[in-house]
Amino acid sequence: MKKIGILGSTGSIGTQTLEIVRTNKDIEVTALAAGSNISLLEQQIREFRPSLAAVWDPDRAAQLKENVRDLDVKILSGMDGLLAAASDPCSEILVTAVVGMIGVLPTIEAIKAGKDIALANKETLVTAGHIIMPLAREKQVKILPVDSEHSAIFQSLQGGQRKSLHKILLTASGGPFRGKKKEELENIQVEDALKHPNWEMGKKITIDSSTMVNKGLEVIEAKWLFGVTADQIQVVVQPQSIIHSMVEYEDGAVIAQLGTPDMKLPIQYALYYPERRYLPGDRLDFGALSEITFERPDMETFYGLKLAYEAGRRGGSLPTVFNAANERAVAMFLDRKIRYLQIPEIIQACMEQHRNISEPTVEEILKTEQETYEFIKSRW
Ligand code: NDP
Ligand code: MG
Repeated sequence: MKKIGILGSTGSIGTQTLEIVRTNKDIEVTALAAGSNISLLEQQIREFRPSLAAVWDPDRAAQLKENVRDLDVKILSGMDGLLAAASDPCSEILVTAVVGMIGVLPTIEAIKAGKDIALANKETLVTAGHIIMPLAREKQVKILPVDSEHSAIFQSLQGGQRKSLHKILLTASGGPFRGKKKEELENIQVEDALKHPNWEMGKKITIDSSTMVNKGLEVIEAKWLFGVTADQIQVVVQPQSIIHSMVEYEDGAVIAQLGTPDMKLPIQYALYYPERRYLPGDRLDFGALSEITFERPDMETFYGLKLAYEAGRRGGSLPTVFNAANERAVAMFLDRKIRYLQIPEIIQACMEQHRNISEPTVEEILKTEQETYEFIKSRW
């Protein structure tokens, strides 16, 4: 039996991870954590019987405790709960599927406790990659990518020599506004931005995909996961989301991973690596597939991507500012407090006023996050 914990079990990645658990009979779920959705979490507890469950919101945690008092499960709350779920001694792998920088401390805690990480929570690596990657090496734990592009890169690197890697070709769908110019994005509403052409995902990442900030976060994520520079990563727009990413070796050979857009493949691959298992679902039909097309990204309209390259190149605490500013701006956009085009504007303004700290500690990262939020509050 493989034993896993899942942070963010009620979300898009979390529920798809539990689907993998349901179809394979050899995974035991030992810990679950969510933000506030206690009705779904209760169903999950009843089905998967973890010994520990954490809910961020303390009132909801107390309510859940009451609702599951017939079961032998410990209910915790807040950051203590999240840390306990992350480092639960019963699990071998932690799936990090919470959204946002809230994942930083629990991921570090899990690595310290010797757990392999199936990493979906990209914000963690973006802000603290310089701490997480060396710590994982020291503790000899694997960081297994769940993000589809990074899983594709990881799969394309199997069998090749890492030292012969020349560059990474990170594919992007281009999102719902591909081909549009700035003037056409002035009046974008929340509902428009939540319509992704190919993937069903949580709200935050869906907005990030529409602004291409998601691709920017992925550039920085790839930099840490694969030990390359930001300039060795080229974003290639591939609107059908069939090629999930590619690598180019020194001799010019390009190796890619293709498939239908289904997050269950990268999730299952991370959980069973290096084993491959049967996965039910649609398969690529090359007879029916008429074309796979490519474009260059429009970094002038979608300049959040350009800002991410800058943050990735300069490093230090700047990627934290990039990420925290985006997290807050997206939340404000979803609350209809700012306009769509203000998302990259806010990120840029936050980056411009920041004094970069090279090699920030976890405390400095969290302080930078708070300072970024305060700056935004004072201005918008
Ligand atoms: P969702 O919004 O669907 O889910 C987020 C999960 O995190 C929910 O379970 C939520 O709980 C939980 N959560 C939020 N805040 C807290 C908190 N403070 N404490 C504990 N749990 C919390 O997000 P996604 O599944 O889409 O994304 C998760 C991560 O995976 C993100 O970093 C995203 O970038 C990445 N990712 C997602 C992909 C996708 O296809 N969805 C693809 C590649 C990467 P609750 O439901 O109770 O609010
Ligand atoms: Mg992705």
